[in-house]
Amino acid sequence: MTDCSICIKIKSESMQNVIEENKSAIGIASGYFREGHCSVIVKRHIKSISELSTDEYTDIFYIIKRIAKALEYKYDTDKTYLISIGDQVDHFHIHLIPKHKDKCSIGVYCFGKLFEAEGEQKPTLEEQVSLRDKLRNIISSQQ
Ligand SMILES: [Zn+2]
Repeated sequence: MTDCSICIKIKSESMQNVIEENKSAIGIASGYFREGHCSVIVKRHIKSISELSTDEYTDIFYIIKRIAKALEYKYDTDKTYLISIGDQVDHFHIHLIPKHKDKCSIGVYCFGKLFEAEGEQKPTLEEQVSLRDKLRNIISSQQ
């Protein structure tokens, strides 16, 4: 049990903005960050995508794809941004934000602010290969 705001919202059963729901996930309309903004939340309280079971992964992305398709139709666009940060609410969820043709791209803000704060990283190919090797080793040791 947890007292996180998303868990409380899920348990309240008074969510009137639910678009779709399945065994592991709930897709909700929000509009909080931009017109058409929706979120898909996993029902179980987890902090990271790395904690998803295979069934939860399938369930959450099943809903994400269906809502993204609806958003792209409604806003006549061919792209939906997926953003998962969780700095404010420590319960894994993914924001879906349609790329409106007449509004700014979100990547400029996300990466622009990161570059501002940390400076643009310019890894060499050797550094990228080194990271690749380290991650491959970790992944193979986890199987
Ligand atoms: Zn929670």
